[in-house]
Amino acid sequence: KMSVAIIGSGIAGIAAAIRLASSGYEVTVFEAAESAGGKIKEFRSDGYRFDAGPSLLTLPVLVDELFTLCGKDSSVYFRYQKLDTICKYFFEDGISIAAFADPQKFSKELFQKTGEPVEHLLTYLSESKALYDLTAPVFLERSLHRLNTYLSTNAWKAFFQLYKLDAFQTLHDRNRKNFQSEKVVQLFDRYATYNGSDPYLAPATLKVIPHLEYNLGAYFPEGGMYNIVRSLVNLAEEMGVSFYYNANVERILVKNKKAIAVSVNKKEIAFDTIISNMDVVNTYRKLLPGEKHPHNILSQERSSSALVFYWGINKQFPQLDLHNIFFSADYKKEFDFLTRKKEVYSDPTVYLNISAKMQASDAPSGGENWFTMINVPHIGDQNWKAMINELRTAILKKLSRLLKEDISSCIVSESILDPQTIEATTSSYQGALYGSSSNNRFAAFLRHKNFSSQIKNLYFCGGSVHPGGGIPLCLLSAKIVSELVQGAKNN
Ligand code: FAD
Repeated sequence: KMSVAIIGSGIAGIAAAIRLASSGYEVTVFEAAESAGGKIKEFRSDGYRFDAGPSLLTLPVLVDELFTLCGKDSSVYFRYQKLDTICKYFFEDGISIAAFADPQKFSKELFQKTGEPVEHLLTYLSESKALYDLTAPVFLERSLHRLNTYLSTNAWKAFFQLYKLDAFQTLHDRNRKNFQSEKVVQLFDRYATYNGSDPYLAPATLKVIPHLEYNLGAYFPEGGMYNIVRSLVNLAEEMGVSFYYNANVERILVKNKKAIAVSVNKKEIAFDTIISNMDVVNTYRKLLPGEKHPHNILSQERSSSALVFYWGINKQFPQLDLHNIFFSADYKKEFDFLTRKKEVYSDPTVYLNISAKMQASDAPSGGENWFTMINVPHIGDQNWKAMINELRTAILKKLSRLLKEDISSCIVSESILDPQTIEATTSSYQGALYGSSSNNRFAAFLRHKNFSSQIKNLYFCGGSVHPGGGIPLCLLSAKIVSELVQGAKNN
């Protein structure tokens, strides 16, 4: 059997392990932390359960596919529920909009609340679908750095319709052409933040994202987001994958331009193939210090990070849903601060996730578990301690104003996640949530490839490499990597 070492048990590392184990490889996963999942974590505090990282699941079929690949029925191991309301949006003028999963219902809601003609949403979503169908087979599901990707029929189709990728205008400019209401433009501009980007800079190609939510659906996994990790680790173990925790890989050993071994807790272990699921910048800096680094790729602007307050709340708010957004009154200014100044605007957009709305056991009776998040810049020279205090006050003021309730008096338990903790606990360079940002039209081509051209037998998966961050894309990176590894064996 060919042996494979995977460095890191983020979602992409686990998925790559399952794919390769199901194809007969002997797979070992080394994880520096004490448990699996990387940014996908869960914790309990004072009777509340929190998903500490991702809260929104789209494309669950990519998880199902892993079970099917191993000859198992995914519904026995991993179940999820489709959301009827994807998100509730709250604006400073008191208007709230429910983004219903049913496009007809949602378009009527937009018309009633903002006067936006109903056909505008339906046209937008069909354009979003067409863009996804055109781009996904080439730009998301294949390596962009292998010749055969460009020889496929799908690639030719995409190249003959390059103008449809909409890469030469920003998402915001595109949305202004599709919608007349400033509120609806802001709602669809927000999708740039799904990969940590700025709608006023990111290309309109990101218009593909709403297709995932409105046409394919947004979901809540039974047991919470961490159940994605739990069920996949179980599956991997059933397929014979060995997981080692508290196993920090210190070096990838290279001989004659071939990756031959990893050094873990001062012990060298030989492998035929090595896959890094660690952030690619830190893989080079920490594990390959003596090798040539692709500086141009590694110096690409990082995506934004997050500041999260996990609040145990002793009250219930019927006007809230699973996903809620409290928009900034000045979205442009918010992104000027985030992207250009690398600071946070005093009136930030607040995302509030309450999993207890789907799973009552996540909070004590009569209470709610609030995952309260704002976008913040990746780590630069900010004074995080001072910023966190100021932002906590600003968030509480905003939520109290819009919910007409003194929120600070409802908090009975609190934990905080900031960019420095994200970097320290997952080795994500500058605390970025999604690797490099998509704030320029060439970003897709400037992510690191899923293999090394300098070092044989070395591969990369996860949010910091092609095709990018977020659970669905990480799962696709695992698929690309496992195909590359198997292709190399067959050559
Ligand atoms: P990571 O999660 O980055 O994990 C890498 C793993 O490698 C870690 O476990 C780390 O300990 C390990 N490691 C690193 N170095 C070493 C080493 N030297 N030796 C051994 N192990 C090592 N995505 C969504 O799709 N939807 C969301 O709603 C969403 N919201 C988010 C909210 C927050 C607060 C955060 C933090 C992220 C969010 N994301 C969301 C992004 C998503 O979580 C990530 O894109 C994805 O989980 C990254 O997975 P990954 O495979 O790149 O690995």
